[in-house]
Amino acid sequence: MSEATRKVVFIIYFCAIIAIRVYFSRQVKQNKITDGRKTQEEKLFLFLAFIGIFILPLLGVFTPWLEFAAYDLPDWTGWIGTGVFLIAIWLFWRSHADLGLNWSASLEIRENHSLVDTGVYHYIRHPMYASFLLWGIAQALLLHNWIYGLFNIVSFLPMYLLRVPQEEQMMLDTFGEQYRDYMSRTGRVIPKFPHSSAELG
Ligand code: SAH
Repeated sequence: MSEATRKVVFIIYFCAIIAIRVYFSRQVKQNKITDGRKTQEEKLFLFLAFIGIFILPLLGVFTPWLEFAAYDLPDWTGWIGTGVFLIAIWLFWRSHADLGLNWSASLEIRENHSLVDTGVYHYIRHPMYASFLLWGIAQALLLHNWIYGLFNIVSFLPMYLLRVPQEEQMMLDTFGEQYRDYMSRTGRVIPKFPHSSAELG
């Protein structure tokens, strides 16, 4: 897959992600927040992730400024990146659709918040973050550059590592035993499938 094709695929997928986010952000706009836990630290990591995920790839695709940091990967890695990115988009869309009005871009509990354990949330507690991780891997395979290809995953990791324990604590504070039980049935970012015998029983 040529460099030009990889960049075109990246931009099409990037637009799909933005469209999904804009659509669902509009849906939750009216839903009141009852508990917000955004810290200064999280704001900083969010900003870092924003640079790695949104600004650098656009600079890389549309300007020649970052080409000095290119790396070499075989052309076929572009096809793997294309497939992984498609899975990431599907997961990003499904997690938004399954969370519905309970979704927030940061750590927040909304009015009438309910614990979702259906759809992709039946198997995995953080499918949206998993989709970001897959997107980061796909980006490194599609855009062969240390700065605008690889920096996505590098900038998302601190945010992920900071946020997951805080989010799980917030959910435990809100839903108590119900969330603890949910945690035991699901995987963090790797799906946990219940044994079929347990399902039947
Ligand atoms: N960590 C999840 C959700 C990301 S959106 C994922 O990766 O898919 C972040 C917000 O979703 C949090 O502020 C929390 O209020 C809400 N949330 C997380 N898990 C939830 C669940 N199982 N049910 C309902 N709301 C949830």
